[in-house]
Amino acid sequence: MPELTDAELDQLIDAIGLRRSRRGSQLKPIAHGTYKGARQHYYRKEPLCEPCRQAQNTYQNEQYRRRKQAKGWGGDAR
Ligand SMILES: [Zn+2]
Repeated sequence: MPELTDAELDQLIDAIGLRRSRRGSQLKPIAHGTYKGARQHYYRKEPLCEPCRQAQNTYQNEQYRRRKQAKGWGGDAR
């Protein structure tokens, strides 16, 4: 059996679950109350919490307004 490098050893240890991998690469805490946080909720297939939902609404309104301005739509189209 060839000698393992540290990286390979790490992988192996993770693979067999010897170490709880808490190296932050997988589940970061959700940034609640931001659009990013909302995306994180979606990503985890869980319902948005209130602050995240509002942040998303705000973000989307913002995008909508910006798009409207960019295209030069004058009036309220709805
Ligand atoms: Zn949230």
